[in-house]
Amino acid sequence: QNARESLYVVSQFAANYFEKQLWESEDGRAIGLSYFKERGFREDIIRKFNLGYSPDVWDALTLEAVNQQHVETFLEKTGLSIRNDKGKLYDRFRGRVMFPIHNFTGRIIGFGGRTLKTDKNVPKYVNSPESDIYHKSNVLYGLYHAKKATRDLDNCYLVEGYADVLSVHQAGVENVVASSGTSLTIEQIKLISRFTQNITILYDGDAAGVKASLRGLDMILEEGLNVKVVSFPDGHDPDSYMHHVGASEFKHYIENNRQDFILYKANILLAEAGNDPIKRAEIIRDIVESIAKIPDNIKASVFIRECSHLLAIEERILLSELNTIKSAKQ
Ligand code: ATP
Ligand code: MN
Ligand code: MN
Ligand code: MN
Repeated sequence: QNARESLYVVSQFAANYFEKQLWESEDGRAIGLSYFKERGFREDIIRKFNLGYSPDVWDALTLEAVNQQHVETFLEKTGLSIRNDKGKLYDRFRGRVMFPIHNFTGRIIGFGGRTLKTDKNVPKYVNSPESDIYHKSNVLYGLYHAKKATRDLDNCYLVEGYADVLSVHQAGVENVVASSGTSLTIEQIKLISRFTQNITILYDGDAAGVKASLRGLDMILEEGLNVKVVSFPDGHDPDSYMHHVGASEFKHYIENNRQDFILYKANILLAEAGNDPIKRAEIIRDIVESIAKIPDNIKASVFIRECSHLLAIEERILLSELNTIKSAKQ
């Protein structure tokens, strides 16, 4: 048995422990399970994603693990336990609802834990640290549960958070993953590209979400994948919007409000620029820069045409700008 295998084993043990706490302990039910239910999560979804609860005790998991003959080193290496100055181990996750993170073959490799407190000084989410089995930049939350639908439907919805994955899934849309805990990486895009070439971004309808979506779409284009974006009313994320409008309206909304990236980008940037001609010129350049990232020349030329119609600029001007950008990159 090698060391990596031991890390998987102890992670699975912890997931079972947190899950059992959620369903069977008094606090787990009264605090954790009621929290999930108040947020509107159905039992089948809570079970499917193996959600759990970590007791609000200094070393509950650590003690139980050591009792069950798990080795301290592996508890430390997964970050489930932390050693204090006095050399004593204590639990990283305490009094939080737990989202186990599966790799795409279904093995548990890490956790996200959400606080139940509203205190601004407490971090909302605590995540497992990097370990020999958990490399954040190579992992997408939900991929194990999404991969079949992603292949079948030939599209993958990309959201920001754990709760978004659960809610979109609960609405009957199973091809959904989150880049939780990091901003989107090239490795994560490559992982999606094993299952589909089409990504639809569903980021939060706040300034941070819009910024992240613009960055994400350029990265996706650069990897040669197709990208669309659905925006949500300000203040909503996919999770809150699903519970706001209900499952069937939500499903209809995301299927019917996909914008291709040019339209999305143009709408955002034009709204910011107003009628200022210099700013409008900058926007056009900005959009052409995104088009210049598309490796496929035929696809790029289709988008140049669309951009020309949308912004009422002659196609040949856009094409010459495109060529300038492309030759500068070489
Ligand atoms: P919720 O709906 O539970 O309030 P959220 O997913 O909408 O949470 P956001 O603030 O939109 O929360 O953050 C999106 C994602 O970013 C989270 O799901 C989590 O993975 C990560 N995240 C948020 N806050 C933190 C934090 N303090 N530390 C680490 N990761 C975080
Ligand atoms: Mn947000
Ligand atoms: Mn959010
Ligand atoms: Mn949210």
